[in-house]
Amino acid sequence: MTSRRDAFYAERDRRTRQYGATADALERPILIMVDPEVAATRAGQIATLALVNMAARVHRRIALIIPGVPLIARSLVPAADLQSAAIGIARAINPVLDLYLEPNIEGCDFVARIGLGTELPSSLDAYLDWHGGLGVLATSPIPGPTHDPASRFGAATAAVLGAVALFRLGHGQAVHPARLNPLDFTTGAAAGTRDHTGPIDVGDVLVVGAGAVATALLYWARELGTSGGWDIVDGDIAKLHNTNRCLTMTAADAGWPNGEPTTTPVAKAATAARAIGARAHPQWYDHWQPQHEARHDLVLPLANGRSVRTLIAQRGEPLLLHATTSSNWTAELHRHRPDHDDCPACRIRDTARPQMTCSTGPAVPEEPDSPDAALPFLSAGAGLLLAAALADLPAAAALEHPVNHWQLDLTLTGRLLRPLRHPPRDGCRHIQPRRVRQAFQSTESRRWDHLDRYGVVQDATALTGVDVPEGHRHEA
Ligand SMILES: [Zn+2]
Repeated sequence: MTSRRDAFYAERDRRTRQYGATADALERPILIMVDPEVAATRAGQIATLALVNMAARVHRRIALIIPGVPLIARSLVPAADLQSAAIGIARAINPVLDLYLEPNIEGCDFVARIGLGTELPSSLDAYLDWHGGLGVLATSPIPGPTHDPASRFGAATAAVLGAVALFRLGHGQAVHPARLNPLDFTTGAAAGTRDHTGPIDVGDVLVVGAGAVATALLYWARELGTSGGWDIVDGDIAKLHNTNRCLTMTAADAGWPNGEPTTTPVAKAATAARAIGARAHPQWYDHWQPQHEARHDLVLPLANGRSVRTLIAQRGEPLLLHATTSSNWTAELHRHRPDHDDCPACRIRDTARPQMTCSTGPAVPEEPDSPDAALPFLSAGAGLLLAAALADLPAAAALEHPVNHWQLDLTLTGRLLRPLRHPPRDGCRHIQPRRVRQAFQSTESRRWDHLDRYGVVQDATALTGVDVPEGHRHEA
């Protein structure tokens, strides 16, 4: 006989298991502990709520020590105080979660204990700190932490690193300290504190795809605020196994409000758009686009399949930014400027192309090589890199740098951020010739068209530490 709890996890954790997680590890209890001083700050609340959000998407037994201070960050669920917000979001994500409040931490056998603040036991497994755009994960108490109350990207980054630590500790894997600033791509001892605390102001934005990376982007964008009109296009509906990594999606969205499949799931576009009050278009891009030819200032290709990357590469846009996760524990940011970089379709081949009948074989109930297995902090990290690039336009490090691809390695075991460069590809059949792009852009000029000027591309061979990567599978 299968219990409600078992049935929920059997369906919810399909992608998590494909990524190598084990049920035993996910069952081991973890502790998230926040001290009152940090809990009272906006940055502390950003880090706390994001960490609880990610943890509830994989871990099944979570203990919280979180003060009930007034809520000043933006919660996904209505709540008056931080503790209620954390409990509310954890239960909305996972209605069958085993949640322990104010546990006796000495008497419990936690596999991973993480702390945010200074008034904490010195025996925890991991500690978080943030200063401006810098997020810090440490494995021993941090001497002189800042817990900068005004931090935005640093608090968000610390939450991502903290979620990595909890998951790895749960699986008996080593955790290494890490320092990252996603705005200027600095890491380790050289990591800077440059931050962006204002709204994301890039004009009207078309987001194609409402999956894990798109919802992560919108989760962080919600905290920062946005300007302009945002349109979210995705023809899919929310499924329970998407809730393991889509940061704005709840079990109720997937039709499992009480841990059982009792209601009609909603469109993915709606779960994503809701985060920032965007317009949801529950249609596939190839069906939607012919009826919506008006341009946006920026187009973000955040979907797999249905040849979306090819279709968007062919539009004639001056700039395409997107992010992916890979099967190798990386979160990746990609830039594509015509004549400077390769195109999105050349960089990442479209998945789910129609296959020859002879190659499909017998029907397999579980997708044999699902391209979209990922973990919540990988998607959250990819969305955060993209949010950082957008927040900082037009001064974004991602824009002018000859590097056009950044791989964030969330195993934390090697080089944290790897810069890569892909030059324009000879024989690319996706990018429009320059005169065609100019004709397209001049029909309705938009905010970033000036970026499509003919510039001298810096000689990539002069760069040090920049590799041309080998291909591996990506997921938006
Ligand atoms: Zn191409």
